Amino acid sequence: MVREYLLYIKVGTESLRLAQAYVTPCFSVDQSFWQEREGCQLHVIGRSPSLVLAFSLRELVNAQLERRHAASKPLNEEGLAELRELAISRVRETSALYGREMAGRQPLQGQWFQWKQEDVSVALSRCNGSIENAEKGMGSLLEGRGLLWEEIETLMMKRAVACPDMTPILQRMVLAEKAEWRPGVRLLVKKSWWKHRLDLVCDRCGSQHENIELTVCHTCGQGCAYCTVCLGMGRSKCCTPYVLVPSRSPYAKGDGGAMRSQLCWTGSYSKDQAVAAEQARRYVANPRPGSREFLIWAVCGAGKTELLFPSVSECLAASGRVLIATPRKDVVLELAPRVQRVFPHASVIAIHGSSQQKWEDADITIATTHQVMRYYHRFPLVVLDEADAFPYHNNPMLYRAVSRAVQPGGKLLYLSATPPRYLQKRLVAKRRGGFKLDVGRSLPLLSSSTHVLLPGRYHGTALPVPKAVTIAGLHKRLKSNRPIAPLLELVRDSLQSERQLFLFVPRIDDVDKVLAYLTKFFPSDASLFAGVHAADSLREGKVVAFREKRYRVMVTTTILERGVTIARSDVAVIGAEVAVFDEASLVQIAGRVGRSVDDPAGTVLFLQADRSAAVRAAIGQIRRMNQLAEKLRSREEVQA
Ligand SMILES: [Zn+2]
Ligand SMILES: [Zn+2]
Repeated sequence: MVREYLLYIKVGTESLRLAQAYVTPCFSVDQSFWQEREGCQLHVIGRSPSLVLAFSLRELVNAQLERRHAASKPLNEEGLAELRELAISRVRETSALYGREMAGRQPLQGQWFQWKQEDVSVALSRCNGSIENAEKGMGSLLEGRGLLWEEIETLMMKRAVACPDMTPILQRMVLAEKAEWRPGVRLLVKKSWWKHRLDLVCDRCGSQHENIELTVCHTCGQGCAYCTVCLGMGRSKCCTPYVLVPSRSPYAKGDGGAMRSQLCWTGSYSKDQAVAAEQARRYVANPRPGSREFLIWAVCGAGKTELLFPSVSECLAASGRVLIATPRKDVVLELAPRVQRVFPHASVIAIHGSSQQKWEDADITIATTHQVMRYYHRFPLVVLDEADAFPYHNNPMLYRAVSRAVQPGGKLLYLSATPPRYLQKRLVAKRRGGFKLDVGRSLPLLSSSTHVLLPGRYHGTALPVPKAVTIAGLHKRLKSNRPIAPLLELVRDSLQSERQLFLFVPRIDDVDKVLAYLTKFFPSDASLFAGVHAADSLREGKVVAFREKRYRVMVTTTILERGVTIARSDVAVIGAEVAVFDEASLVQIAGRVGRSVDDPAGTVLFLQADRSAAVRAAIGQIRRMNQLAEKLRSREEVQA
């Protein structure tokens, strides 16, 4: 079914300033809506089957209305004719630009965009009709979500809500300012003295330029485009309505707040942990609209998940929903039962690509970052776990999704062992005399109104400082089976002392190379060696076998740089100078070692073919954390 979108201007009776353009798929709904509210006039400009075109014209018309208002020109017949002319010329322009981009392809029905001008004006008189409340059910269903049209249909089906046509109901919500809808991909004409061009942006994920693909669209029969970046979450297109419904009312379900927020946790905090957890809780509890963001910077092995419990409890007690977003599905699956155990009276759901709970509601939602794209102004508290990890790292799309999931006035809590530099600058930077000082190479602050830093591990032993060894021709030596003394020593020691060893390599091909190398030097131990990488179909089984000590040496790409904790283990990086190992990644890798109380020490070896700035920076960062933890301890001893 091809819809048509009508563009009209509403002029209020009170003031010309209220003249504004609207797009509607069902004009009758708009007519009756405005009738109920105020006597006003509606002037139709025209209609098109293209959603994106109608929206782009609306923007143009509104800008023109504003200019007229600024110049105190009334909106008379002449003015309307001018606006209609403007629309027609913009359609022509857009069509020509689209045609230029699609050069060589057949235009649809002779042209890329259809536009029918209309010069109808409707005068509405004041009357006291009652507002339908058909939208109520739908409103609460959609509250706090940002969904494509097809996703709304899925949601309604999953919740068994029958609705033959949601278009008029949604349009009423839009007019009542309870919802907003836009084309999934927006298309505007960008004018410059040099060259006019089309400006295409995916409204859902924010991607643009080469990530938007122009198409000959068979759904709308118009010039159209879709986003290639968020394709895995359903196709965001120029002709797909993208509906955003902010969550306004508090989420309170009766008076269950006190019950839901009950924390049943038998563990205990170290002194530093207790301070950090309390600082985060206070930030969440603070009703003043201060900073929207707070960073918990806790070194690897500081026990960061537990630090969240008081904050989550605080938000639940205030009748709020909590979202914990984390980059990886295995973390979602591991976290959900753990959180459910400590909050037994709260509902907890785990959301990832293949989750059955995707469309459910809960007090605590634990989701992979991609799924966060489906929420909009929903949560008063959003926790972003591993804020530095792939796929957040250098990914503005997911940051955008996460910050859009927060309710206006809500809080965003970052959790990281290696916060990226820009987060440090924003939330940790020292302020002195009005200037912000980069924390880069000096000791960072322990806490401020926007962050708290936990430099020590919960067991109080310092982080193992990596040893960096530069070996000329490292990779050639490996290939030709020439001995690499520090590596062979480490493997031998590890095998003899019943420890386990992670060997990190930069590329997938290196996994087999290193395995062959080890087998050559330790032939009788070959069955204790295994290798794993992201595309390995046996990955999960191998990690389990390593956990159960059936394998003793695991050769791995960066996939195991975080998450997997094995007591009594050492690590080595072979080729630490390669770019995939950046500062954060090397700190995470070093953080695999010495996490348990009974074995807080261990060896971290960075083998590099050349000197690398990232290796130096990572070692520097670990040293600074140890210094800071030491300073903190001696201060406590003085106080005690
Ligand atoms: Zn289309
Ligand atoms: Zn997109």
